[in-house]
Amino acid sequence: MTNRKMFHLLLMAFSLLPAFLAYPGDSDDKRRLLMVEHDLKGRGIRDKKVLEVMGKMPRHLFVDASLRDKAYEDYPLPIGEGQTISQPYVVALMTEALRLKPTDRVLELGTGSGYQAAVLAELVKDVYTIEIRKGLAEKAENRLKELGYRNIRVKYGDGYFGWEDQSPFDAIIITASANHIPPPLIKQLKDNGRLIIPLGSTVYFQTLTLAVKKKGELDLEQITSVAFVPMIGEVQKKR
Ligand code: SAH
Repeated sequence: MTNRKMFHLLLMAFSLLPAFLAYPGDSDDKRRLLMVEHDLKGRGIRDKKVLEVMGKMPRHLFVDASLRDKAYEDYPLPIGEGQTISQPYVVALMTEALRLKPTDRVLELGTGSGYQAAVLAELVKDVYTIEIRKGLAEKAENRLKELGYRNIRVKYGDGYFGWEDQSPFDAIIITASANHIPPPLIKQLKDNGRLIIPLGSTVYFQTLTLAVKKKGELDLEQITSVAFVPMIGEVQKKR
């Protein structure tokens, strides 16, 4: 092979590679697109609406400006007070598992940055989200208002007790780990409603578990291993 041919072959090989890599100078849009292709579709997320919403949601606006260049990497990021915004793949997996309909009303325990709530708000009618850390609750509420969400309500409090006045819910998403499903949440779930929770007693790994309520009883399905920050408050008194 001549040097010239070799050079062209190498050039071709290198021009194919970068399509799947993000570079420091890339725009947020390009990084987000790569995240959807590589980390969501590439790992088995199929729900078109979930992919579409996460392909538009500006995750970089839910983290500190200093973390902007990491906002579309597939891992959790710190959001203050020792808490994290979940990994995009896990957000997609949980959202997809809930099989949401546009008419649904959804409860979230663990508002954190507000990112998961915003993803839900694009897919359903109303989102009710509860955060036990006041600073995070206020920050998320302001952020969601600034982004123009009118169908998300944020409450500061212990999500263990749910949101009785607004119940029952079509779906409940719990984004902090616990060793049991809080009974008030089971009560506030509609029949045929879906609830998803990282269930387990260790701080390192839990089993993402989907519960479907059938005639008052829960059918449980284990999905995969995950690592969430622990639920605090009432849940800790019930060990
Ligand atoms: N869903 C969030 C990430 C959640 S991190 C996002 O999209 O960014 C888990 C959050 O659950 C933390 O903010 C933590 O403060 C909160 N949390 C822990 N225990 C809670 C409880 N009992 N009630 C409500 N929120 C709780």
